[in-house]
Amino acid sequence: MRRLFLALPFALLPLALAHAADEHDHDHEHGSLGAHVHGVARLDMALDGRTLELELDTPAMNIVGFEHAATSDADKATLAQARETLLKPHGLFSIPEAAGCTVTKQKLESPLFGDKDDDGDADEHEHSEIHGHYQFTCNVPAVLNKLDLTQLFKSFPATQTIQVQLVTPKRQMGAEVRPSNPVVKF
Ligand SMILES: [Zn+2]
Repeated sequence: MRRLFLALPFALLPLALAHAADEHDHDHEHGSLGAHVHGVARLDMALDGRTLELELDTPAMNIVGFEHAATSDADKATLAQARETLLKPHGLFSIPEAAGCTVTKQKLESPLFGDKDDDGDADEHEHSEIHGHYQFTCNVPAVLNKLDLTQLFKSFPATQTIQVQLVTPKRQMGAEVRPSNPVVKF
């Protein structure tokens, strides 16, 4: 989220400054976005020129059904399968072929994938998250006019709600997306 805010176009700066003026509300907003709630994931999308950026933050529970380090063969297999699905963002986010988007960057991070926790001591934590960061370059970005999360819900059915924040040249908006209504138009 914070990384995406850096990419905000200048036109939106007055809005950002107005928010920052009320520090208390600002912090509160960040706090609620950062909350770890099983069943709830967050997805930030930014479209700027030909660059499409997606950032997924989700409790590992939503993705693999556990949050401890994978030690059993079954857990390891589940994790490997999830990783494979998460590394196919075209399918996961239903990016239309006509937009001609090519993945230029993708990165998964999680203590479950062996990444070090920010706090350094993964053993102390009962909860784990999975972060996915994707960047595309799109030849026909005008084709992108909606975000369809049907496949994400199908791939990871423990995900009940996705809190979407999106920034495009035309608008900035937030939406709560559910399996029964998985599309955000923009
Ligand atoms: Zn948890």
